[in-house]
Amino acid sequence: MNWPMILAGGGIGLLVGSFVGAAAMRLPRDEGIVAGRSHCDSCKRPLSPLDLVPVLSYVFNRGRCRTCGARIDALHLIAELGGAFVGLSAMGVAATVGEGAAIAILGWQLLLLAILDGRHFWLPPRAIALLAASALLLPVLDKQAGTVAVSAILDQVAGGALGFALLAAPALLYRFVLKRDGLGSADPWLLGAIGLWVGVMNVVLTLLLAAFAGLVLALFLKLAGRQVGAESALPLGTLMGLSAYALMIASRVT
Ligand SMILES: [Zn+2]
Repeated sequence: MNWPMILAGGGIGLLVGSFVGAAAMRLPRDEGIVAGRSHCDSCKRPLSPLDLVPVLSYVFNRGRCRTCGARIDALHLIAELGGAFVGLSAMGVAATVGEGAAIAILGWQLLLLAILDGRHFWLPPRAIALLAASALLLPVLDKQAGTVAVSAILDQVAGGALGFALLAAPALLYRFVLKRDGLGSADPWLLGAIGLWVGVMNVVLTLLLAAFAGLVLALFLKLAGRQVGAESALPLGTLMGLSAYALMIASRVT
């Protein structure tokens, strides 16, 4: 892919990331997300275009509202930078615009889910359903030599089933043996939806990488003096989302 296309991916990613940030703020409050961010979360002043330039508005206003000086949630900045990174990396590894678009559509959805699970330990069923349904776009957009590869579609379907089973089975066993829930109940559905995108091999690797990242993170928190025990939960959805996207990019670097 040439540089103008990669930069275009990054530019679109900034805008999508800004929408992801607004959605991540509004979904937990059960507000509509279509309108985007329209007013300061603190003083309710309607935002002007000057407030809505991704990243730059945040940096120039030093992360504060221009009117009331309230801190603007860094979540907006994280979502904008994350969205841009997804656009750049997706176009950077793709051979065609369609392939890049498909990878970016996966990445932007995982970004939203990772933020929501990281902050609220919440994976909205609607967002998981959308992730699963949009996996249909992958074979449509990423055609190998103009034809849809049946084997690739079968791999996606098997990856979805395996992803769900990999986490549903231990969760059932855990509940049966210990009589309490040990995993987030949405986690198997998320790994299933991821499997529909990445196929059999990468769904297994996604879980392994997420588990490894979780162990490293727990160790890091322990070294930093934080209490880490059986009761402290790490956002598995966030770890799986980041792992799945990293593997998707790594598996397509040519
Ligand atoms: Zn304000």
